[in-house]
Amino acid sequence: MSEIAEFTRHLGHYLGPPDVELVERAFEYSDSAHRGQYRKSGEPYITHPLAVASILSQWRIDAQGLAAALLHDVMEDTAVTKGELETTFGKPVAEMVDGVSKLDQIEFTSTEDAQAENFRKMLLAMARDVRVILIKLADRLHNMRTLDAMSPANRKRIARETLDIYAPIANRLGLNALYQELQDLSFKHLNPLRYRVLTAAIKAARGNRREVMNRLLEAIREGYHKAGIHASVSGREKTVYSVYKKMREKRYTFSQVFDIYGVRVLVPDPTSCYAALGVLHALYKPIPGKFKDYVAIPKANGYQSLHTTLFGPFGTPLEVQIRTHDMHRVAEAGVAAHWLYKRQDGVGLAEAQRETDRWLQGLLEIQSESRDSKEFLENVKGDLFPEEIYVFTPKGKIMALPRGATAVDFAYGVHTDIGHHCVAARINYELLPLRTELKSGDHVEILTAPTARPNPSWLSFVATGKARSRIRHYLKGLQQKESAALGERLLNQALATLKVEPEAITWERWEALAKEYGARSQLDILADIGVGKRLSFVVAQALTRTPGRGDDAAPAAKPGALTLRGVEGVAIQYAKCCRPIPGDAIVGHFRKGQGLVVHLTDCVTLRKQRVDAAELVDVEWAGDVEGVFDAGVRVLVSDRRGLLADLAMAIADAEGNIDAISMEKPDGAGVIAMFFGIQVRDRRHLAAIVRNLRRVPDVRRVQRART
Ligand code: MN
Repeated sequence: MSEIAEFTRHLGHYLGPPDVELVERAFEYSDSAHRGQYRKSGEPYITHPLAVASILSQWRIDAQGLAAALLHDVMEDTAVTKGELETTFGKPVAEMVDGVSKLDQIEFTSTEDAQAENFRKMLLAMARDVRVILIKLADRLHNMRTLDAMSPANRKRIARETLDIYAPIANRLGLNALYQELQDLSFKHLNPLRYRVLTAAIKAARGNRREVMNRLLEAIREGYHKAGIHASVSGREKTVYSVYKKMREKRYTFSQVFDIYGVRVLVPDPTSCYAALGVLHALYKPIPGKFKDYVAIPKANGYQSLHTTLFGPFGTPLEVQIRTHDMHRVAEAGVAAHWLYKRQDGVGLAEAQRETDRWLQGLLEIQSESRDSKEFLENVKGDLFPEEIYVFTPKGKIMALPRGATAVDFAYGVHTDIGHHCVAARINYELLPLRTELKSGDHVEILTAPTARPNPSWLSFVATGKARSRIRHYLKGLQQKESAALGERLLNQALATLKVEPEAITWERWEALAKEYGARSQLDILADIGVGKRLSFVVAQALTRTPGRGDDAAPAAKPGALTLRGVEGVAIQYAKCCRPIPGDAIVGHFRKGQGLVVHLTDCVTLRKQRVDAAELVDVEWAGDVEGVFDAGVRVLVSDRRGLLADLAMAIADAEGNIDAISMEKPDGAGVIAMFFGIQVRDRRHLAAIVRNLRRVPDVRRVQRART
């Protein structure tokens, strides 16, 4: 094929022989992979990747970028895998092809303004390597140039997408020439009739204006010559789409838009920009309020120029852009400028990347001094190195989340109820845990269960304020509810010792008591009992005393024991000091605001606290108590290699879970004291673990830790 020979000859202008060889290899590979495939136009498919690579070569993209461009459709359209590409062409090329393929999988379901902005951000977020975006944009440009082969409906859809998504990205990256061509091509397919009429009108007008324009340029050149300023002056043509847009947005007629002459002045250095401006303003009067200094304060995409509008010699306005040659390169090619104008001495890819980064960094620095620096910083950072990720909901909408967000954040983002009841996530159709961190482009679906509840551990990984506050709020409400439930159990026991059925207490009685206590409701009183603010038997007495008899009723006996059915949630806690487990003799202690804390009856810590007997509640284990409880074991052992592994094995063999380990060497004599926090079912389970530990060689003593 002669096209490839032509192409590689052109590459020789800026790539060395080994680089050209890489590109040729990529071409051969892609050509045989796509063999037998044809484009809608009937041409062999390989003409498309070749055209894309050739667009990129005009930006002087490096050899790896060109190879990736030639291969950009093989993963999607042929049986070639990423692994194969990696072995044949190396990791960077494979990563780029993979990146482009991923972008292709995004379906643009909607082009509503807000959605379009999200799509653009998503594209930028997903393409970690700026070359991936350049390949994607070149791909789109070639598809737009050859759009005639598509059906009219497809043509409109693709043109719309290009105008809404890809052209703005080109603009954002400063790829101005590309931006304009994408706009014009989109306009041509979206509005064929208007495009044809306008194009014809512009062509005619240009013919008429040529004479005027030439005289204008001559006058300006003459002015610079006299002032001794080196400047190249040229006329600037408006694009079809820009004329159309201005007519529409400003409600101008064609001649109002088109009778403005555009002139561009290029000078050697930034200072000369201002000198060149001075000469112009001396030549023609500037229109007030039209001067803009983008040299001192560049636009967000790095664009720099002085803009001024003058009253021209023939009564028509004259729009002038003044900039240096360097600024002009960036204005035309933006982020690609560093490849485009790379020095001939073979500056490596890393250098081009670094220059791009430096360029972006430079933007930040220039801007941090300007007025709206904050807004700008947010824009550039957000656009090119997003702090946000963008994921799809099952309905195809896009949700923006901060980097690090998890499936739980997503669930709360959809709806508080979804968050409260989520149990797992399906991410890209794969079932994954809720703590999974999401990436841009993920499809996320949340599985819920009516009985599921928020878990306090979620607070350790959620990234959004919304999820955090909803979980906290729920847990607070939960504590209130659980406290009330516990309070009710305690109260019912107290009532039982008074031989009163809970149902016998009337609603009026509760009302009266709530009023007396200044509580809002029965629930509040029960919760107060549950957290130990009120004593159950005092409330029971108050509820059962005959109205009018006053407080002189004989004090009731303390109620019977409260039965613990298992790990009871937030209202009942097991003391960390003595770690009671089922089977132990226990006692409940109310701590203000914390609810009931269960200790061993002989807990040393509790005894030291000298608690009021009124704060203690009898508790006992239910016969069929369930759950896992934290217990502590102290082991005295001679130190040796592999000791910890043996001990851990002994615990695991008895089905114990270790959740904490600490150790100390009391005398430095090779004997160490170890503490294990172990989760057990009950005393028998703990005894089995202790037995196992005693069998480990070199263990001298095993003891349950009670303090
Ligand atoms: Mn393609």
